[in-house]
Amino acid sequence: MRNLRFVMVGHVDHGKSTLIGRLLYDTESLPPDKMDEIRIASEEQGKEVEFAYVMDHLEEERARSITIDTAQTFFKTPRREYVIIDAPGHKEFLKNMITGASQAEAAVLIVDAAEGVREQTQRHAFMIDMLGLEQLIVVVNKMDSVDFSEERFEKVKKDQVEFLGRVHLSPTYVIPISAKLGDNVSNRSKKMDWYSGKTFLEALDSFVNLPSVLEKPLRYPVQLLHQVEGEEVVMGRVEAGILRRGEELVFLPSGEKSRIKKIMEFGTEGREEAEAGRSTGIVLDPPVQPARGEVACVPGEEPPVTNRFPASVFWMSPAPFRIEEEILIRVSTEEVPARVVEIKERVDSSTLEILEENAKVLNDTESGEVVIETARPIVVESFYRTKELGRFVLVRRHDVVAGGIIAHAITQRA
Ligand code: GDP
Repeated sequence: MRNLRFVMVGHVDHGKSTLIGRLLYDTESLPPDKMDEIRIASEEQGKEVEFAYVMDHLEEERARSITIDTAQTFFKTPRREYVIIDAPGHKEFLKNMITGASQAEAAVLIVDAAEGVREQTQRHAFMIDMLGLEQLIVVVNKMDSVDFSEERFEKVKKDQVEFLGRVHLSPTYVIPISAKLGDNVSNRSKKMDWYSGKTFLEALDSFVNLPSVLEKPLRYPVQLLHQVEGEEVVMGRVEAGILRRGEELVFLPSGEKSRIKKIMEFGTEGREEAEAGRSTGIVLDPPVQPARGEVACVPGEEPPVTNRFPASVFWMSPAPFRIEEEILIRVSTEEVPARVVEIKERVDSSTLEILEENAKVLNDTESGEVVIETARPIVVESFYRTKELGRFVLVRRHDVVAGGIIAHAITQRA
């Protein structure tokens, strides 16, 4: 079975590191010497294992080794493998999303039972919503610190569910746990017999993988046209779905149609298929000439074509960005002049605090919820549907000055 990737978010100190440490420990996903080290260290101190300490250790190791992806942790249940996409900070998180390092399939939101829902918890809910994640577990942590009280759990659960409802999210599970003592994480709690739902790991194991990129509708952005032995070959990379010889294609935005006569790849005689991830050439019959930036799709499974769409951008240049400034946008192989016509929210990308509504300027490392208008219609899709068509960079005088993602479903508008 494929692994499942999930993001873990929560207010600082609500127990994220402890829960990650607990998961690694309970599933024996740490190297044996690390397990021993933790046991000895905690025995010496005469108390339970401090799992946040496990995480500190891992962080140190990651800092030393540049080969390990800093944002990912792995563990395994009998059912499958999991990848935790840890969000050390929102800034890193946004960067990871834009560079495509982290596409999650599920989310875990952690809330401290004693403290309840906090401002940051709310910002995280927005983030989960923005990512379009529907498989969501809320864990109410530190139940030991409230005497495993059912009443307290129900109160926090009610507040959290109510708040998530405001951003149209509804959690799949809400689970009372103690990350520190291990209650309801992988082992059913003996102290909360009032709770008969799934443990945290059972809940994760019940989640499904999202359709893989191969199962998605075909998206084949055109890179260039090339003459090979008298034949016109369209070159590009299959970003989603599968190219099949003989299949009819429609190129967008032009709407021009043709059929795949031949699939060519360097060093092969010709293939029947080319799946997502492959750089491939195709010969068309009739021999239409799509422009660079056009996206080949299967008729009936077309993405939206539009010249105006909402997006989240992350500004990465010391020179601030002003609304209405003319700039270039690059989406996949497409490049077109564009303007940001609205900055609905200017956001501190480290705290996710909204600094200003209806702003006119974005400064270095700030992010913004914006509306972009392009000089002509282009193919864009929500990042969640097709990664390559849902992220972009903004270019000012040959410099990449911002990255962005298209977070929400896009409607047709040409
Ligand atoms: P993070 O900032 O979300 O990563 O939080 P940490 O995992 O570092 O935990 C913050 C503090 O809460 C630490 O002192 C933990 O020992 C403590 N903590 C975490 N989980 C629990 C729990 O289940 N019960 C209790 N009583 N304390 C916990």
